[in-house]
Amino acid sequence: MIIEKFAFLGPFQYNLRKRRCFQMMKHDEMVIYHIFTMGYCGAEATQVECDGIHHRLNKIEAQLPYLKELGANTILLGPLFSSISHGYDTTDYSKVDPRLGTNEDLTHLVQICHDQGISVILDCVFNHVGRSFFAFEDLKQNREQSIYKDWFDSVNFWENNSYNDGFSYRNWAGCDNLVKLNLYHPDVKNYLKQTLASWIDDYDIDGVRMDAANVMDMGFVRELGDMARAKKTDFFMVGESVSGDYSLMVERGGLNSVTNYEDYKGLYSSLNDKNYFEIAYSLNRLFAQGGLYQHFLTYNFVDNHDVDRVASTLNDERDLEPLYLMLFTMPGIPTIYYGSELGIKARKGNGTDAPLRPAVADIPFDITNPLTEKIRQMVAVHKSVDALKKGSYEQMFVRSCQMGFIRRSEEQTVIAVFNCEASPVQIRDDRFNGLYYDLYHQKECQLSGMVTIPEKSGMVLMSMDQEIPKIQVPEINQNEAIVIDETDGDHLVFFEARPKKMEDYMRLALEEAYRAEDEGEVPIGAVIVKDGEVIASNHNRKEGMQDPTAHAEMLVIHEAAKKLSRWRLDDCALYVTAEPCPMCMGAVIQSHIKKIVYGASEPRYGAVESTAQLKQHPMLPKRTEIYGGICENECEAVLKRGFEKNRK
Ligand SMILES: [Zn+2]
Repeated sequence: MIIEKFAFLGPFQYNLRKRRCFQMMKHDEMVIYHIFTMGYCGAEATQVECDGIHHRLNKIEAQLPYLKELGANTILLGPLFSSISHGYDTTDYSKVDPRLGTNEDLTHLVQICHDQGISVILDCVFNHVGRSFFAFEDLKQNREQSIYKDWFDSVNFWENNSYNDGFSYRNWAGCDNLVKLNLYHPDVKNYLKQTLASWIDDYDIDGVRMDAANVMDMGFVRELGDMARAKKTDFFMVGESVSGDYSLMVERGGLNSVTNYEDYKGLYSSLNDKNYFEIAYSLNRLFAQGGLYQHFLTYNFVDNHDVDRVASTLNDERDLEPLYLMLFTMPGIPTIYYGSELGIKARKGNGTDAPLRPAVADIPFDITNPLTEKIRQMVAVHKSVDALKKGSYEQMFVRSCQMGFIRRSEEQTVIAVFNCEASPVQIRDDRFNGLYYDLYHQKECQLSGMVTIPEKSGMVLMSMDQEIPKIQVPEINQNEAIVIDETDGDHLVFFEARPKKMEDYMRLALEEAYRAEDEGEVPIGAVIVKDGEVIASNHNRKEGMQDPTAHAEMLVIHEAAKKLSRWRLDDCALYVTAEPCPMCMGAVIQSHIKKIVYGASEPRYGAVESTAQLKQHPMLPKRTEIYGGICENECEAVLKRGFEKNRK
């Protein structure tokens, strides 16, 4: 085992070009992994216990290969700005909490996530602040004379509070340490709008979870959303709401989604009570035709940082499988609370949520854990089937311990069935007729008026009359196991076999470009990568071969197709030192290449975005990832040398 040690290089380079190229995924494509940042990173309980700056956000970066293997494509990070304790008592919205690192660490983390195709959502706590927030400090000091006295809700100098400030104020849920802001005050609104704007501009985040949204003014939430979406069209906003009319919040507040507490309860309690009628009633009420939330995607979860781990809540752990299978097949956005995919248990302590928020070092992460394996399969099924991501909902049958529903999109019909009994159960129904494919177990089944649902599990059935989507479970790369050692100050990270980054592959393409340079060709190089391995590598040979089509990209596409004995390269990435020309983009489109990464842009013939905007070509598969500006300086330098030489 080789332990490679390396330090992140120098100060972070802000690269606008690269940033612009990250395409945030559509909301209905999201599978969210929720991390409670302070707990996960092992931060001290309070900031005063912490000496200096601890660069702990890199622990999240270290977990990204695991998240990719799991199939999650979006992370939600619990509060991470400077606060007194857990993060919901913010004292400075403009500074990452020193227990977690610096602002540069956060910028770096978001960029690394984007490089890996992962969107980032931050917890946004705008309803209340901690007592050390600058405006509240001013109020304590200057009382009636404070210019900030109207920044807080219902300040009354005739009353007192539990801190004996000699005045009272509205708080959140009876907690005097959480001071409610006056969200109707124009200065407060502006301040918070600017705060969110800077999070988008400085860190490039893709969305927020609005904490305590159900007690916020929806008019203000809408203003925040309008501002954010003017910066990023697909900016995602999910409101936290334990109860209330979610559709009203979506309508008035312009939220994209709301935390689905109603089904959270139904999901586990219908299993504990052996009463699927409960969750069936609720799913019908919310999602069936005429249902309350038919028109938006709810944020679905089985546990989070505020409630007991679902493995502790369930009476029978074997119910975890049918529980998660329903989470990934019901309407809405599925989410996983970090660690629960391993079936870890925890209950709230006496007046503390700490047991629900363990440090990464204390969680036995293992992608081959039996429950995790099953969840990976469920995630893959969810992501591959349109009907599950955005189809309609219709109840098929319900019994105490079995249930089935139908999800329909324009092109697909999928039936999800569940059985929480400890033995297989037969369901008779004339609609189960013909040859089906169970997407979850990946096998065919011939049905004639009856289906047998395996014990403590379920099936995701699709009639074989339809085109069966390919379920792509991410491969596990054992070498990617990363051991991270937290050191303070200078970002020292210890990796076992550091996963190759885009820059590493681009350097290989650059070596080809240098070869072309030596041969007197226009110096452009390219490589094709499949599953982390280079399967084709070549450079421009137009002069040598006297062939106008012998561009680097064309040659590697030929090589790769030949090697794989197929024309479809939808699991391959093309790395090329210069922006491809129209011919090469044509070959990219024809070969369905999954990912295009290029170095220098080419203002004269580049056909991705410089001249012909072929990145928008209708034949380019929708999910194609495109990144430009990788190793831009080196790529540009070699091109420039080549052109100068030609001119001579
Ligand atoms: Zn070309």
